[in-house]
Amino acid sequence: SKMEQTPHIAVVPSPGMGHLIPLIEFAKRLVNFHNVSVTVIVPTIGTPPKVETAVLESLPKAINYVHLAPVSFEDLPKDSKVETTIFLAVTRSLSSLRGTIKLLVARTALVALISDPFGTDAFSVAKEFDISPYLFFTSNAMNFAFSYMLPKFDETMSCEFRELPDPVIIPGCIPVHGGDLMDPVQDRTNEVYKLLLHHTKQFSFAEGVLLNSFIELEEGAIKALQGKEPGKLPVYPIGPLIQTGSSDEADPSECMKWLDNQPSGSVLFISFGSGGTLSYDQLIELALGLEMSGQFLWVARAPNDNSSNAAFFSVESQNDPLSFLPKGFLNRTKGQGIVVSSWAPQTKILAHGSTGGFLSHCGWNSTLESVVHGVPLIAWPLYAEQKMNAIMLAKGLKVALRPKVNQNGIVERDEIGKVVKSLIEGEEGKKVRSRMKEVKDAATIVLREDGSSTKTLSELVKKWKNKIAPIAS
Ligand code: UDP
Repeated sequence: SKMEQTPHIAVVPSPGMGHLIPLIEFAKRLVNFHNVSVTVIVPTIGTPPKVETAVLESLPKAINYVHLAPVSFEDLPKDSKVETTIFLAVTRSLSSLRGTIKLLVARTALVALISDPFGTDAFSVAKEFDISPYLFFTSNAMNFAFSYMLPKFDETMSCEFRELPDPVIIPGCIPVHGGDLMDPVQDRTNEVYKLLLHHTKQFSFAEGVLLNSFIELEEGAIKALQGKEPGKLPVYPIGPLIQTGSSDEADPSECMKWLDNQPSGSVLFISFGSGGTLSYDQLIELALGLEMSGQFLWVARAPNDNSSNAAFFSVESQNDPLSFLPKGFLNRTKGQGIVVSSWAPQTKILAHGSTGGFLSHCGWNSTLESVVHGVPLIAWPLYAEQKMNAIMLAKGLKVALRPKVNQNGIVERDEIGKVVKSLIEGEEGKKVRSRMKEVKDAATIVLREDGSSTKTLSELVKKWKNKIAPIAS
């Protein structure tokens, strides 16, 4: 009851493991370390992937979760983009969300509602009930800074971002060419751009932004965001929050056992996030490139020639990924490598001493998981804001190597072999590994009891607690 005076927080993740996982980790920190209770409110679009259900079912008792009424997207054109559905999932769930929030207000001391960048329409429901809206930004500070500036760019620009002659300047960040900015801004006439613009305009309705980052990782961006100009949105860097606990496949032991038998730091882990897919030609080149390098643990999906995020909503491939590998590949690489279908226990693999490198699509959660475990990267961006992340990791932080892409957009087998060898055994690899070690050490410190991220979250929680039991001053 309200008399308990435990502040309650509603957390509303948009569809996608990359949104659900960090928001749930945030909820875990609140209940485990800050005596706050949480309800996770999940939009329902189609049948949820098994891994999503597994994450929700493994939540600690102190975190409630509810599903909103299913929403339909049958009216959308067949060729509409994955992002359109993500952007509209919360928007189309608002009446159901309103009902859930109403119940929570009656039963708990609900003080705040947290949405991710795709779900800012939930802020209006928070306002109706006099609850504080907050944004949990699921990518990095650089991407937040750009997104927050987007409405201004939109007013002043007359061309496409990719046509800008000069790199785009995001305060405190490495310059990025317009064509390397996130996918949804690449065509300003597309519905996805309009939806992104709509949501970024609503960022300023939030009372603050939670950033899954920390000062040593993005010093320039965070300091610029924390500048004291009037009317600026308060930012709270509270990261790195990474996946803990189980979202593992039914029997993860096979690949973990295999890892146990490999030499220390010898294995390259390859994964393209929860939904990333390669073209058929690229899949073949990657396989043959891996065969030329060394030990590997590869999470493979069936190829898709039309889209690089084809498995976003399903996670698991409909077709057996192994059936697309080059002839004889599995036989020839027996002992050298192992291929897992669609989903693997990623954080466990990154924490394992045999893992020496991570070829990643540079999704922000994967990036942070690599940082926390000190594993250097090969940056292989596919979609969303991953090109921006790759630039920051390779050119800015220097914790990643970047393979060359040929004129047809393919990374060829020789290039893959070269870059993998260079990461695992070469001089360049030594440099990025030691840089990654420095960043890892900083990540450990910020999450200690007296670390900056812990203190920042405590400060915010204090604000929430004061809302229900104001301290006389
Ligand atoms: N993940 C996992 N096993 C896999 C693939 C992904 O556990 O085989 C997790 C990964 O650890 C991360 C999340 O799914 O926590 C993916 O988020 P990210 O931001 O890296 O990429 P996205 O899926 O949003 O593109």
